Amino acid sequence: MQKSIERIVGDSEGVSYEFPVFRFEGLRFDGSDKAAPSAYLQAALHAGELPGVVAIDALMPMLEKAEAEGRIRGNITIVPQANPIGRAQYYFGEHQGRFHLGTRTNFNRGFPLLAAPDVELLPDTTLATADQRLKSRLLQLSLGHDIVLDLHCDDEGLAYVYVHASLWPAMADCAAAMGVDAVILWDEDTDGTFEGASITPYLNLRADVARFDRRVATTVEYRGILDVDGTLAGADAEGLYRLLVTRGVVLDQTLSTPGSFTGTVAPLENIDMMPAPRAGAILYSVKPGDRVAKGALLATIVHAPGEAGGSTQVFAPQAGIILTRRSRRIIRAGEDLLKLVGDRKSADARSGTLED
Ligand SMILES: [Zn+2]
Repeated sequence: MQKSIERIVGDSEGVSYEFPVFRFEGLRFDGSDKAAPSAYLQAALHAGELPGVVAIDALMPMLEKAEAEGRIRGNITIVPQANPIGRAQYYFGEHQGRFHLGTRTNFNRGFPLLAAPDVELLPDTTLATADQRLKSRLLQLSLGHDIVLDLHCDDEGLAYVYVHASLWPAMADCAAAMGVDAVILWDEDTDGTFEGASITPYLNLRADVARFDRRVATTVEYRGILDVDGTLAGADAEGLYRLLVTRGVVLDQTLSTPGSFTGTVAPLENIDMMPAPRAGAILYSVKPGDRVAKGALLATIVHAPGEAGGSTQVFAPQAGIILTRRSRRIIRAGEDLLKLVGDRKSADARSGTLED
């Protein structure tokens, strides 16, 4: 395993950012003339989302053992903390890791959507902002890997993944290996998420070049932002390791192949985001994982405490499963209360880009 340090030049003199990159070199033997697939893993692109960071921390010793035993077949690149800019952003004592404070841009938007998987097509970011330089570098580090995993988390939620429709059901083995609860399929990225930038360059290639049968690109949502926990990290590391073994990046004959994926699979258009009708305090009646019927009480918003008619109830517009809810209980009118994965298309379907 080799460690190197990446350096991103800041927006003013004397400021720069650093993050480590770890590389395991695959032996690339698999008894045939086809090279083993390679893998890229990154975590904390939204800098405060740490479940994936501690999962990678638990995964590293497993990979180092595999390396010592000569079982790494494909190259593996790992960026445990992908966003040193966001990691340093505190605003009045509160960490702000989702948006770049300098540009107000979401760290998981604005990645270049290249026409082909060629780093030569990356824009020149010499005169761009630091967050754009970071995005360009992360995409450059990941491009060319057959497997790209971007580890995030939600507010409070189940473990779930976003997958481009072209990779499903080919990626069902990965979802089963990781042990996630749900898979959300999306089909168009106009905003430049990291996942979108990882799959878009392959969409116009010939099938035998794009190799969707062995390609993996996914945003992994490791539950909620408070789910930074040693037991969960260990289980998630095992899931990631199982994925790498299942896809032939790492050899481990002691592992059995995962069974078929039995979780929820739904297109993005089935998600109801449930905007709050009023501002106030949220009293949730449901939690992630709950199955609800159409018309079930989801939450009560207390907007005028102690007054008659001072609270408003919100009901399920259709039957489905609660995927996520907010970790804080204060809300403004119009903000999303929760994500309900409906059995059918949502009446206010916001199809297209994944919602990480
Ligand atoms: Zn995120």
